[in-house]
Amino acid sequence: MGEYEIYALKYAGPFTSSGAFLMWLQDWEKVEKRNYYIWCIKGAGETVVVDAGVSPNLAKERNLAGYISPAEALSRIDVKADEVRRVILTHMHWDHSNGASLFPKATFYVQNKEYRFWLKDPIATRPPFEFMSDETAKAYLADLEGTDRLVLLKGDQEILPGIECLLAPGHSVGLQAVAVNTAKGPAIIGSDCAHTFRNYQEDWPSALIVDLVEWMKTYEKLRARVSSIDLLFPGHDSIMFENYPGVAEGVTRLV
Ligand SMILES: [Zn+2]
Repeated sequence: MGEYEIYALKYAGPFTSSGAFLMWLQDWEKVEKRNYYIWCIKGAGETVVVDAGVSPNLAKERNLAGYISPAEALSRIDVKADEVRRVILTHMHWDHSNGASLFPKATFYVQNKEYRFWLKDPIATRPPFEFMSDETAKAYLADLEGTDRLVLLKGDQEILPGIECLLAPGHSVGLQAVAVNTAKGPAIIGSDCAHTFRNYQEDWPSALIVDLVEWMKTYEKLRARVSSIDLLFPGHDSIMFENYPGVAEGVTRLV
């Protein structure tokens, strides 16, 4: 089985909001920071990118603070986005999927449930869902449907020895986490299963949950796969940028 390192690449932020955004119905009076990330798994001669971030076009439109292109962030650890062969999309919210076109040679791995929801379910066009959605990514992936550049996963599946996609719904209908074999044992890129480490530590979700029961089951599932909760990485915690060894500007090694 391969052994890998996991890098967090901050592509935008920090942003601030009420703490209640990150801890559902708590901390209204607090102001908390969050960053936007993609992740890169390297090792055993392989490079796998997790999430596509946001393209320069959308970043400009949304005036994203602290933005750099995910492609530029990857170049800082010697990864050329236009040569990357595998991109796992944890879910199809705009901040995780919009930059798909930055990876023109990649095969994209998405859960079938997630893809079908955003592309085919009329509920996805209703305002609470639509505001998290991304037309650019949906169109880009729809063009790839039926080709070998889009793999629609049906549940848990290993995509390389030591790298497994895990169906982990709750934050979105078909979010997937990524279990990675590392020098410290199995680690999980949980993406937005939790926005911060505190969500896992305190058994409490963020405000962005489509199914709280599924979220709790997902939390149990992911926690059972790691030896320590520290190896379960959240989607937006500023700690991933601040408290881990820096390897390049805006890039830290998580494990
Ligand atoms: Zn999300």
